[in-house]
Amino acid sequence: MIPVWCWVETIWNSFSIAAMARYGLSMNSAFLVNSAAHKYGDRPFDKYIQARENTAVTLLTTGEGWHNYHHVFPWVYATSELGYTFNLIKVLIDVMAMIGLAYDLKTANPNAIKERRD
Ligand SMILES: [Zn+2]
Repeated sequence: MIPVWCWVETIWNSFSIAAMARYGLSMNSAFLVNSAAHKYGDRPFDKYIQARENTAVTLLTTGEGWHNYHHVFPWVYATSELGYTFNLIKVLIDVMAMIGLAYDLKTANPNAIKERRD
């Protein structure tokens, strides 16, 4: 309703673009995690698995494209070792932890990450 109220867009155009196009884009971006991020990109943590670090998928999904790391350390909430670099999901989870809505966030030992990366 924001486009309808704020810049007098038709309700059909508003629904088509603001709702359906956004939905299609976000769903297809999420699907890229288990398709493109399993086919294209680097494998710095385990070169014998298909999951890869894919920057394009990371940008489209706000951080879910660091997939080789995620498969090697699946218990880590942050999905990458890069802190907040292209990882808005980590920012969201950290904010939720600050206000008490997320807890017991699991991380990987920095030495284990370094050993697997090399
Ligand atoms: Zn995967």
